[in-house]
Amino acid sequence: MTNNISTLKNCYGCSLCASICPKHIISLKLSKTGFYQPVIVNDGDCVQCGLCLKVCAYTNALPNIDRAIVQGFATWSKEPVVRRMASSGGTGFELARLLLHKGYKVIAVRYNAEQQRAEHYIAETEEDLIQSMGSKYIQSFSEEAFRAMKKGGKYLVTGTPCQIASMRRYVQMKKMEDDVVLMDFFCHGVPSKLLWDKYVAELEPKIGKVIYASWRNKRAGWHDSWAMGLDGDKQDSSVDWHDSYNTLIRGGKTFYSRKRSEGDLFYKFFLSDVCFNKACYKDCKFKNLQSAADIRIGDLWGHKYAENEDGVTGVLTFTERGEKVLRESNVEIVPEITEVVTEGQLKGKIKSPYYYTFLIALLRSRLNLGTIYRIVQMFRIGRIIGYKLHLK
Ligand SMILES: Cc1cc2nc3c(=O)[nH]c(=O)nc-3n(C[C@H](O)[C@H](O)[C@H](O)COP(=O)(O)OP(=O)(O)OC[C@H]3O[C@@H](n4cnc5c(N)ncnc54)[C@H](O)[C@@H]3O)c2cc1C
Repeated sequence: MTNNISTLKNCYGCSLCASICPKHIISLKLSKTGFYQPVIVNDGDCVQCGLCLKVCAYTNALPNIDRAIVQGFATWSKEPVVRRMASSGGTGFELARLLLHKGYKVIAVRYNAEQQRAEHYIAETEEDLIQSMGSKYIQSFSEEAFRAMKKGGKYLVTGTPCQIASMRRYVQMKKMEDDVVLMDFFCHGVPSKLLWDKYVAELEPKIGKVIYASWRNKRAGWHDSWAMGLDGDKQDSSVDWHDSYNTLIRGGKTFYSRKRSEGDLFYKFFLSDVCFNKACYKDCKFKNLQSAADIRIGDLWGHKYAENEDGVTGVLTFTERGEKVLRESNVEIVPEITEVVTEGQLKGKIKSPYYYTFLIALLRSRLNLGTIYRIVQMFRIGRIIGYKLHLK
C-alpha cells in the first residue's frame, strides 16, 4: 500500500510535505483548477516513510498545542502610516516587526509580479518586511520559503490557518517548536489563480504589465477598502492614474479598480465564495476559534467598530507566547470578549456551489469575467426559482 501523499486529491497545498520529505521528491505544482498541489516527482525513490502524511493538516486532526485560555483583543498599530497601509489595523506587521528586532526571521507573504503570484518569502530586515503588508487574496506559493527554514533559527511564520496547522505539525516533528511563533488569520478561503490571471489579463491591455498589486486600500476608508491598486508599465493618459496610496512600498502612479461596492469583478467572485480551493469548502477545519497558531488576526468587522474607518485588527491569542508577543508590540490594545472579535467572521464551513466544475471550466475558457459572472448569476437565480417551485 502507498504510504505517501500521492493518493491525496485537492488538499490544502501547504507544501509542508515537500519540506519534510527526506528524499526531496515532492514539489508543488499549479493544478488545472488553479491551486498549488503536491506532486511526487520521482515515485520510485519514495522510501514509504509516511512523514509527508504525518505532517499534513489535511489528513490529520488539529495538532495538540500548549493552549492557554483564548483571549480576544481589538488592536491597531500606533504608527498611522502602518495602519493606513495594512488591511485592517496593521497588527500583523507590528508583531512581525517586533520579532524581527528580537532576532527572528519572518516568513510572510509578498506579491511577485514577475510570476504573477503571491508567495511566502523570508524577511530579515524591516525593509524586506514591508512587502508583507496587506492581504493578497490568492493562495500563496510556500514551498521555497518553508523549505529554507533551518533548525536552530528563530522564526515567525504567518499564513492561512491550514498552512499554519501543517507548520505546527512540522515544527513539532522537527523539535523546533520553542523557536517558532505561528500566526494565522480568520480565513474565508483562497480563490483559484485562474480568476486572478484572467482579471490581470483583462486589465493589462489598458495599464500594461502589472508590476505591483495591492488588494485593499483605505482611500475611501476601511469598510469600503475592497479595491485593487495596480501599477502598470504603460502609464499613458488614457488611464486614470492616481498618486500611489501605498507610498511605503512604491511611489509613482497607481490604477485603482472600482470598489467592491461599485462592482469590481475580482471581489464579486472572491466574496461570493464560488471558486475557492475545493479543500476550503468541506475540508476546512479552521473557522472561528479553531486554530493551531499562537495568535490569530483578522478584520474586526462587528458593530462595536462599525464607525471606525482607520482599521482595527481583531486578535485572538491561543497561547501565552501569543499574548506576550502581542503585549510587547507597538499596538494599541483593547481587551474584548471573543464574541466581539469574531462577530462578522464565518462560523462554519461554506458550501461549494453546485456549478463549481462548470465555473472552473469557464474560468479556463476565453470568455471574459463579466460574461462569466452573468452566467454565475443565472445559475444562482435558477437555483432559487427551482427551490421555490420545489416548495410549491
Ligand atoms: C485569502 C485570505 C482570506 C482572508 N479571509 C479573512 C476573513 O474571512 N476574515 C477576516 O477578518 N480576515 C480575513 N483575512 C485576513 C485580513 O485580510 C487581514 O490580513 C487581517 O485582518 C490582518 O490585517 P493586519 O492589518 O493586521 O495585517 P497586515 O499587517 O496587513 O498583515 C497581513 C499578513 O497576512 C499575510 N498574508 C497576506 N496574504 C497572504 C496569503 N495569500 N496567504 C497567507 N498569508 C498572507 C502577510 O504575510 C502578513 O503577515 C484573509 C486574508 C487572506 C489572505
